[in-house]
Parts: sequence; structure tokens; C-alpha cells
Amino acid sequence: MEQVLGNLNGIDFTLGETILELSYLISALLFVFGLKLLSHPETARRGNFFAAAGMLLAMITTLLLHKNPAGNGISLNNVWIILAALAVGSVLGWTIARRVKMTAMPQLVSFFNASGGAASALVALLEFPNASMGDQGSILVTILGLIIGSVAFSGSMIAYGKLDGKIGDIFSGIMKYVNLFLLLCIVAIAAFIMTSGQSPAQLNWAIYLLLAVSLIYGVMFVMPIGGADMPVVISLLNSFTGIAATMAGFIYNNQAMILGGILVGAAGTILTLLMCKAMNRSLLNVIIGAFGGDGGSAVQQEGGVMKEISLSDASILLSYSKSVVIVPGYGLAVAQAQHVCHELEELLSEKGVSVRYAIHPVAGRMPGHMNVLLAEADVPYNQLVEMENINPDMPNTDVVIVIGANDVVNPAAITDPGSPIAGMPIINAHLAKNIIVMKRGRGKGYAGIENELFFDDKTRLLFGNAKDSLQNLANEIKSL
Ligand code: NDP
Repeated sequence: MEQVLGNLNGIDFTLGETILELSYLISALLFVFGLKLLSHPETARRGNFFAAAGMLLAMITTLLLHKNPAGNGISLNNVWIILAALAVGSVLGWTIARRVKMTAMPQLVSFFNASGGAASALVALLEFPNASMGDQGSILVTILGLIIGSVAFSGSMIAYGKLDGKIGDIFSGIMKYVNLFLLLCIVAIAAFIMTSGQSPAQLNWAIYLLLAVSLIYGVMFVMPIGGADMPVVISLLNSFTGIAATMAGFIYNNQAMILGGILVGAAGTILTLLMCKAMNRSLLNVIIGAFGGDGGSAVQQEGGVMKEISLSDASILLSYSKSVVIVPGYGLAVAQAQHVCHELEELLSEKGVSVRYAIHPVAGRMPGHMNVLLAEADVPYNQLVEMENINPDMPNTDVVIVIGANDVVNPAAITDPGSPIAGMPIINAHLAKNIIVMKRGRGKGYAGIENELFFDDKTRLLFGNAKDSLQNLANEIKSL
């Protein structure tokens, strides 16, 4: 029997418990500090390290010091199983994360998100038989963990497939009602479990039914979302995973898990609201899957003429400009052209041209994609200007260079109410005096719609892989 260290409000506490609680407090501080550092590209790497150290500390102290209500620690057999699972998970995670291409990062994030949701749902499923039926609070957190974790799992797997181009958008007006019906079923089954007064063994069928309906809802709710609305759903699923982990933390009454989950859930929720604002969508619409890429009636100018520009003309136009704005998009990430883009920007700056980057919140394939990409190339952070701050300067901008961006500069969002991206705020590249677009061909953006900007009289196309085009342009400017 471990020596009692003290007594608080009539409850004895031991040295082991005290160290465990203290370690959780330190972990919590490391999580919060890590999150703070994650908010800036320059410190993000350190932030990740601190948060991971907090998690490692919580895992080690839990393994060594956790005791169940009967006062027994984790049995040696279970410790070995946990260590083996940790080893397999760590090796797999490490290998996948090292091998994954930068452009496949969003898919990987979705996959990890799905794993978090699945883990929380499994905890709830396994612990449901142990829940005491009189304790409504513990049943509620178990049910919530199961529902939210399952939706996060199946939804994130569909998001993974969509980002990877393996799954297309399936949209039909009826899906809105199907989703509402599924939500009602989930609420009804949960209410039945809470109020039936039957034992967990008798409710086994209901808990598995709840799992099945929640998994189907996750699929159905992400399936119709397309067009350009995926960023909202990805961050929402992210917050679901955090909330599910919080519920799992409540099931085990583990402060580190509760706090870690709350931080992920809160960060995901803030990001969801920011993404909703960026896309000009309401969160309710996302939850019932009411919007999505049904193809819309966007302006289809398949036969339009895209006017090209030669390298020498582009280099002269840029060199003699006063202000240039670069709009990076997904194609910049695909081409891995961030370094040469920075080189071009420095060359122009040396010539006295004011060069800034216009950052759209959903450019690329994950929130903050462009910020991360440009930070990797050491582009000074103060040169990145948010969409709402750069838009008022657009009419005075001599040249906008659109590099692998499409949807985020598509004026159809303003001009065509039937477009799948109608209402989405865009970077107003079309208002600049001249527009140079770098892309490989006539490929469409993520929303799969034509972009009238490319056919604008002021627009000139520089066809080719963005990295080659930028390198050739930089060489041309050097030789001027
Ligand atoms: P888009 O996907 O709209 O367009 C990318 C463009 O890049 C294409 O027109 C393509 O044309 C071009 N391109 C591709 N590869 C290259 C290359 N190697 N060199 C040059 N050009 C290239 O990108 P945006 O960044 O404008 O928009 C992002 C879209 O993704 C939005 O619709 C957003 O909603 C969605 N999305 C964003 C997420 C996020 O969290 N940020 C998550 C999920 C979706 P071509 O083939 O002719 O070269």
C-alpha cells in the first residue's frame, strides 16, 4: 500500500497521485505553450516539439503511476501490450509522415484525423459495458464519444478520398433530408439508451446500431460537399476529433486527455468559423450537408481564347512595374516552386518593385497551406497580406501574377449566383491593371469550373509547370 501523503477535503492522496496530477499540469502547460508557438511559421516547429513532449510526459506518467479506483496500477501484461501498440503506431506514423509528399499532406492530416476519431469511438464502445447505468453523466459522455468519434472517422476517410481524387462529389437535393433523418435517428437512439433503464448488456444492440448510423452519417454528410467547400468540413471534422477525445478523457477521468481534446476541439472550432467566414457559408448548412458541388451553372467558356505572353514581354512588364502582387495557389505547391518564386520576388524587389503575396484563406488544400509553403522558402512573413487587406489595393496594382491558383481568383464567385462557389470571397485579381497567369494548360481548379479571369482582356497566360515558368522568368529578368 502506497504511503498517504496528505488529505484534502477528506480524500487521501499519495505521492504517486500527486506526481501524476503534477505531470498532467506540466503537460497542459506544454500543450498551451506549443499551441501558442504554432501560431507563427517561424516558431511552429518548436511548438510541435513542446506539444509532443507534453504528450510523451503524460503517456509515461500514466503508464507508471495511473491507478484504478481499487488502487491497482496497470498490470505488467497490459503495459507490454500498450508498449507494443505504441511502438507499431510510432513506426507507422513516422514512416508515413517522412515519406509523404508535401502535396499529399492534406490527405495525411485527414487520415490522422480519422484515426483519432476511430480511437475515441473504440474507447467508448469498449467502455460502454462498464458504465454504471445509474450514472447518466458517464453514459452521456460515452454515447457522445461514440457518435462524434464515429462521424469524425468515417467523415475524415471520405475527406481523405476526396482530397486524393479517389472519391468524387455525389450531390442530390434529397441528401439534405436523408442527413436530417440520420441525425434524428442518432438523437432518438441516444435518448433511448439514456432513458430505457436497461443494463449495458441488454443495450448492446442499441450501441452497435448507434455506431452504424453514426458511421453512415459521417459518410453522407461529407459526400455531397464539394465545389470549394471542403476546407470548412475538414476543420469541422478536426474539431469533432478533439471533442471525441475529450469525451474519452471524461470516460477515464483523465485530465491530460480532457485538456488535450478540448484544445484540439477549440482550435478546430475556431478554424471552422474562420473557414466559414472565408467561404461565406453558414455552419448549419455544413452540418446538414445542404451545399455542395452540384456542378452549378458557372460560366463555361470552354471555347474562349486564352492569350499567351512571351517570357521577354512578361519580364519587361514586371521589371517596369511599381507594384506587383503574387497570388499563390495549389499549383505552386504541386510544382514545389516556392523557392524559385521567392527568388523572382527578390529580383523584382532589387529593381525597386514593391512585391507582396496575397493569401486567400482556402488557397491550396489545407488551412494555412500557402503560409507554410512560403515560410519553407523563407519568404518574410510581413510580405504575406491577407485577402481582405490586399483587395482594396488591387485597382492600383500594376501586375498580379497568379501562380497555380484558380478558384480563389475566380470572379464567378461574384458574378454568377448559380456557381458552386457563388458568394465565396475571392482575391480580386481581375481588378488589377494586368494579370499574368501561370498554369500548365486548361486544367480547372478544385471546384471543377471554368474561370473567366483567364479569358479577360487584361490577362496573359504563361503556360508550363510553375517551377519552370518561374525559373525561366527569373533568368530573363536577370538578363535584362
Ligand atoms: P485550384 O485547385 O482552384 O487550382 C489550381 C490550379 O493550379 C489549376 O488551375 C491547375 O491548372 C494549376 N496547376 C496545377 N499544377 C500546376 C503546376 N505544376 N504548375 C502550374 N500550375 C499548376 O487552387 P486554389 O489554390 O486557387 O484553390 C484551392 C481550392 O481547393 C479551393 O476550391 C478550395 O476550396 C479547395 N480546398 C481547399 C482546402 C483548404 O483547406 N485550403 C481543402 C480542400 C479543398 P493546370 O492543370 O492547367 O495547370
